[in-house]
Amino acid sequence: MAERLAGKAVADAMKEELSQKVAAIKAKGITPKLGIIRVGARPDDLFYEGGAKKTCDSVGMAYQVFEYPADIDQAAFEQAVTAVGANKEINGILMFAPLPKQLDEKKIRNLIPVEKDVDCMTIGSAAKVYTDDPTGFPPCTPTACMDILKFYNIPLKGKKAVVLGRSQVVGKPVAMLLLREHATVTICHSRTDNLPAVCAEADVLIAAVGRAKMVKANYVKPGQIVIDVGINEDPANPGKYCGDVDYAEVEPIVGKITPVPGGVGSVTTVVLCKQTIQACEMQNGLA
Ligand code: NAP
Repeated sequence: MAERLAGKAVADAMKEELSQKVAAIKAKGITPKLGIIRVGARPDDLFYEGGAKKTCDSVGMAYQVFEYPADIDQAAFEQAVTAVGANKEINGILMFAPLPKQLDEKKIRNLIPVEKDVDCMTIGSAAKVYTDDPTGFPPCTPTACMDILKFYNIPLKGKKAVVLGRSQVVGKPVAMLLLREHATVTICHSRTDNLPAVCAEADVLIAAVGRAKMVKANYVKPGQIVIDVGINEDPANPGKYCGDVDYAEVEPIVGKITPVPGGVGSVTTVVLCKQTIQACEMQNGLA
């Protein structure tokens, strides 16, 4: 039976540490603040926003939601994002994507100042992540994967890590972060030959594929560490969600595994706060 790498233990330890950091920053007369930019009111965005607000409250940080109508036009939204970016009270910005079709998302993302880009929306942040510049923030989910591996003392140096998925938001950046920790990294995608066999060679497998329960027994090996990033509607249980890994099939084989729910997702909003606090420290010469 595998060890369950629960996200809650990681999130609780991080929140404890962040609360102390926030208290120390507040003692200097500064309150770290997250700005949340939302267009429309998609249920997924509202759900994530609710979690982010709760986490901000729990560590003593401030937040402000900047909400815009779903039919906002390009010029008005560019102006709005520029104003949030220039707002001196805001240290970190989360902007929900994808944006509605009438908006030029690529252009708008890059209006976020890189020093406030705590979820890696801009090319400037991506450049920093890919050049190992520690002043650039990776997206929150890959950082959450790394924080889980660190919390559970999972060695990465010299180990074979396989990342299943090559998106800009998870697969590619998590591969960069694993490389930073001296893992030997393979990135797989929909055109990878012999996918199960490639995954089964990993010491650490990160599944970020967006396909419910795709990772089966033939993708894993005994002793393997499995980090399941997936959030999918569970076809077997409508209204519930599940990961990219078939937990029931894989868990009896591997060494350690994150559950879904209760794994990576529980750490992501804490990372959002952590990166906003780091941004606040850097902007105020406290880092
Ligand atoms: P995405 O942009 O759709 O990318 C999925 C990747 O998986 C692509 O690189 C795709 O390959 C690959 N893929 C798809 N089907 C495949 C198959 N049959 N075999 C091999 N590779 C396949 O998804 P994402 O945004 O990275 O998200 C991945 C998962 O993580 C989703 O379930 C999402 O909900 C979840 N997620 C979770 C969090 C969190 O906080 N826990 C945050 C973000 C995302 P190609 O490039 O070849 O098309």
